[in-house]
Amino acid sequence: MRAMLLEAAGQPLRAATLPTPEPGPGQVLLRVHACAVCRTDLHVVDGELAEPKLPLVPGHEIVGTVAAAGPLVERWRTGDRVGVPWLGWTCGECSYCRSSQENLCDRARFTGYHLDGGYAEFAVADARFCFAIPAGYDDLQAAPLLCAGLIGYRALVMTGDAVRLGLYGFGAAAHIVAQVARFQGRQVFAFTRPGDTAAQQFARELGAVWAGNSDAAPPEQLDAAILFAPVGALVPAALSAVRKGGVVVCGGIHMSDIPAFPYALLWGERVVRSVANLTRRDGEEFLELAPRVPVHTEAEAWPLERANEALRALRDGRLRGAAVLLP
Ligand SMILES: [Zn+2]
Ligand SMILES: [Zn+2]
Repeated sequence: MRAMLLEAAGQPLRAATLPTPEPGPGQVLLRVHACAVCRTDLHVVDGELAEPKLPLVPGHEIVGTVAAAGPLVERWRTGDRVGVPWLGWTCGECSYCRSSQENLCDRARFTGYHLDGGYAEFAVADARFCFAIPAGYDDLQAAPLLCAGLIGYRALVMTGDAVRLGLYGFGAAAHIVAQVARFQGRQVFAFTRPGDTAAQQFARELGAVWAGNSDAAPPEQLDAAILFAPVGALVPAALSAVRKGGVVVCGGIHMSDIPAFPYALLWGERVVRSVANLTRRDGEEFLELAPRVPVHTEAEAWPLERANEALRALRDGRLRGAAVLLP
């Protein structure tokens, strides 16, 4: 099969021909139809996430059809269309797994990081961690739901019943969260890189009541904010934008250091928290909700072999919505 392969952190991916993997017990073999590009892929390629499997096929927003099922798989049949997310395997035994926090499993394995992912023509996945894809979505539009959507949704849930919601970084995740937030009757305030008027315009098109630079103060105090941009300096910025009792949710897996800030910014029972990974329950809930909103994903198709260029476009902030690789 054709695949894009990471052989060492900091190097471009190499177009390779690999043996098509075989599904083991409990696994399915998928013919990959689409795989979205996530910022986490950039962190893996750049070496900001320690100890990936190497060589590695990145990609954890996979939409494919079941080409073969290994022994013991009862849930899926050949031809079923499924999605594969970041959470690829959990132990089922640790204290987190036993308390509905499998996203924090001590031994969790992640797709496109510890396990080969979807930058390829085929991928294998644990059948228990695959999701059914809602019927109304084509492959291209479904792919970004699987991480930008799922983790964005988990971050949104962490904001409770916040009405005035700030989104810092208006890329793949925020453009989905904005639609869900609006559907739920919230008001979205979008913060972008200073001067990124294209992203601000995009946010307004998706119903943001205000869009501006990340170093600007919003026109009114926010109830909560979610940070999708991996920029630690935005934590104090967001804290100063939220009201007493408000929450700032850090949605990314990696962030530059958070600078020191006066305690007064945290005072008043403001909360800073992170969101890590996803549970299967998050996935089921979000994929049930998405078609009811309905969430429209803005997806740009790229041929698999141009994965390096797609990653560069993401790094440079040149994407509107999500890049999706098509094998
Ligand atoms: Zn566990
Ligand atoms: Zn991701």
